[in-house]
Amino acid sequence: MLTFVFILIIDEFQRQEDLSLQVETSYLSRAQIGELLAIHQDIELGQRGYILTGNKDFLEPYVNARPQLEQLFGRVETVLAQSALLIKLEAISDQKLEFVNLSIAMARGGDFEGARQLIADGRGKDLMDQIRAGILELDRAEYQRLADRQAAVRRARLDVQLWVFVIFAGLCAALIFAMFIVSKAWRARGEATQKYRDLSARQEAIFEGAKDGMLIVNQSGSIETLNGAAAAMTGYARNDLIRRDIGSLFEVAPDQGNKETFLRRLAQRSRESGSDVIELIARRKDGTLFPCDVAISSVKLAEGQAFVAIVRDTTERRRVEQLKSEFVSTVSHELRTPLTSIAGSLGLIQGGAAGEVSERAARLIEIARDNSQRLVRLINDILDMEKLEAGRMKFVLQPLVLASFLNQAIEANLGYAQQYSVSLVVEPVPPNATVIADPDLLMQVMANLISNATKFSETGGEVVVRALSLDRRWRISVADRGIGISEAFRSRVFGKFAQAEASDARQKGGTGLGLSIVREIVHRMGGEISFETEVGAGSTFHVDLPAERRASNRVETNSGLYPSVLHVEDDPDVLAIVADALEGRFQLASAQTLAEARTKLLRSKYDVVILDVALPDGSGKELLNELGDTLVLVFSAQDIDQDLANRADAVLTKSRASLSCVVETLYSLLAKSEIESEGT
Ligand code: ADP
Repeated sequence: MLTFVFILIIDEFQRQEDLSLQVETSYLSRAQIGELLAIHQDIELGQRGYILTGNKDFLEPYVNARPQLEQLFGRVETVLAQSALLIKLEAISDQKLEFVNLSIAMARGGDFEGARQLIADGRGKDLMDQIRAGILELDRAEYQRLADRQAAVRRARLDVQLWVFVIFAGLCAALIFAMFIVSKAWRARGEATQKYRDLSARQEAIFEGAKDGMLIVNQSGSIETLNGAAAAMTGYARNDLIRRDIGSLFEVAPDQGNKETFLRRLAQRSRESGSDVIELIARRKDGTLFPCDVAISSVKLAEGQAFVAIVRDTTERRRVEQLKSEFVSTVSHELRTPLTSIAGSLGLIQGGAAGEVSERAARLIEIARDNSQRLVRLINDILDMEKLEAGRMKFVLQPLVLASFLNQAIEANLGYAQQYSVSLVVEPVPPNATVIADPDLLMQVMANLISNATKFSETGGEVVVRALSLDRRWRISVADRGIGISEAFRSRVFGKFAQAEASDARQKGGTGLGLSIVREIVHRMGGEISFETEVGAGSTFHVDLPAERRASNRVETNSGLYPSVLHVEDDPDVLAIVADALEGRFQLASAQTLAEARTKLLRSKYDVVILDVALPDGSGKELLNELGDTLVLVFSAQDIDQDLANRADAVLTKSRASLSCVVETLYSLLAKSEIESEGT
């Protein structure tokens, strides 16, 4: 646009320059036209002076004027070009010169009278009048040409002015519009900044006001930001924790895998769910430890991925939970004894131990006995639940051959099924179906599932138990064709005291605790429980348990596939009694020195290494760094320091742990590693 204006203005300058040139030329040509008249007058003056006086001096202007006239016509012609008026004037001028020449020639010939007579005829005057009129016309025409030109230039200038005005107005409008847009954007930016500030202030208030500790940790595990609660909880000044490794705040519990750093678990957890609560032990500045729940979520920031850890000190909650479970446990135990006597006494009365009772009394006694038995069941369930939750339920994990086990389970529940006229069937179980589980607790699980399936079947119905191989697991299913579970209740089936109908408890004699106990037991054995159901068509509950491990490093023996164990121990007696305890269940190798252990580890891979600490050629600790992902059970007479405890998968003290405890720990380590390797 500006270029256009610039071109217009340049053009206008050019035009002005042309015009002034033309004005100049026009003035020049008009002067020359005036000069033409003067020369003709000079010629006439010379002619007349000579003819009247006979004095030849008068001829001088005439003589001079003739070449001048020719020159002048030439010059005027170059300016006016093919002007018709000029051509006409030249013709008259020629006639005039011819006339003057004639008269002068006559005078020169002495015929002054004839020459005078020629002038008196008036032809010369007439021609002179025509010349004057022609010059005047030429001058006017030239004047008019100049005026026209000036008018055209004026018009063009007006056009340019108009254009410049329009363009300028356009530019002004564009400028105003641009200013409007800029001011609007500016205002929007201001508002956004304000909003951002408000949001930051709000989040800062939440961050700082939160009772839970909050830490933002970068990918390499160093703390970038933390709130006051996190600092207060750990006893550090806030600045002391900035840039420190998050691992310095948390103890990694050995049973959660001491070889993994806190950060790796952090990342894994956040990958799995985005946010999940992990129970950890945190360390205060003064070295004291406290339990906490940590929820971790990952967040993508401009400088890379970061983790937000929300830490809740659970000391108080755990204390209250402890108090509550102690209370429940005490009350339940206190209730169990008198209730057992009540149920027992009622049973005795029913059996006639107190003599004959009337029919009415017998009915009432039956009601009382049923209900006292229900109360006993309820109390037993509450105690089981409490024991499980407090971690006091003892699990003895061992290989369990499903074929025989499931048949036993059916047999144990036949009597109950008969009460409901329901038949129990076990489908043929593959002979290699072996799981790692606690037999008693799995039997409790089966009893619960079978009794539920029976209770909720139609009379004459059938409950089917089967085993199915999954990838590295076995699935035990208990299927019924009973009433099914309504959609609304499905999500609460495993909840405590959850029953689809309030009347179920009375009608079917349940407590609503059974499935939550079952789930807890299954989880503790490293398994999963799930169900499929259709209202009116029946339900199937699945229990998936780790299959007995058959890794490539398992050694095949006459008696089958067993996990391989290397026992590193310098005391031959200990070696012998452990070998005795593992006999028939594990493939055992032993080493009495670190060097021997290293040689054996180079030659073969073991599932588990049982490691003593004090060895003749060094500390068992040294070996820990060389074992990679092999499971390690430290079995030593020494008190184990925290560092070693963190690095080992399990720790047992010789004098305190029984041999069965060693076997049990080996099974539980193997089961756990099985589950972990499945999860990855
Ligand atoms: P209960 O001791 O009352 O049986 P559970 O925890 O074992 O408690 O079961 C909770 C509830 O789940 C039952 O009351 C019943 O409503 C429902 N339920 C469990 N198993 C079945 C099944 N096989 N068919 C239908 N409903 C079932």
